[in-house]
Amino acid sequence: MELYVFLTGRIRMTGAPVLAYLVRIDNHCVLVDTGYPRERAGAYRDNPRELIEMNAGDDVVSQVARLGIKAADIGYVVCTHFDIDHAGNYDAFPQARFVVQRRHLDWARTEESPRIGQVRAQWDRSAGYQVADGDTTLLPGIELLESSGHVPGHQSVLVRLPGSRPVLLAADAIPTREAQNSDTRPIYPFDMDAEAVRASTRKLTDLARAENARIIYGHDPGIYQEITAFPGRFT
Ligand SMILES: [Zn+2]
Repeated sequence: MELYVFLTGRIRMTGAPVLAYLVRIDNHCVLVDTGYPRERAGAYRDNPRELIEMNAGDDVVSQVARLGIKAADIGYVVCTHFDIDHAGNYDAFPQARFVVQRRHLDWARTEESPRIGQVRAQWDRSAGYQVADGDTTLLPGIELLESSGHVPGHQSVLVRLPGSRPVLLAADAIPTREAQNSDTRPIYPFDMDAEAVRASTRKLTDLARAENARIIYGHDPGIYQEITAFPGRFT
């Protein structure tokens, strides 16, 4: 089992990374998040309002191809949530099963949130979803953890590696290192429910402590220097 972390772009305002992850396990490949839409590569140069700086070749489709993995080899895509920096490029993996929390999917479909509703074309798959109800084992060694607050039905992922500490992909439940203390955690502009954010932060940090897991924060400005990022990997 191997875990790769892809840097697929940066948030322009802060320089914080936009990440996606690939777990290779026996003959399964599992993507966790799919980054910003590849058709927007380079768009930041012409559009001052473009939120994400992404260059050609940074997108998740290019990075997966660089590993020699074909789109058809991706068996699962785990969707932490449908914000556009996490849920672009779904169309590139037509054979994968997409796994999302039922609560997130139901809520997204209401279009109650303009930021999720506006990008519906990215995530509204005609092929549908495999829905999870709360914490679930996706495959042996891959646990999905409900971590609402940033949005309803956000999910994080615990990966148990054979040769090193488990890795907790917190995504936007704990986007930065400074957000890992549930009591003092900053509530960011896109966090929808402060109380739920704190409860999920506590749930994940308690779990990380119990499992001796390393947390990979979703958008931490320093994280990419610290971790074994692509073309390195965790094993
Ligand atoms: Zn995000």
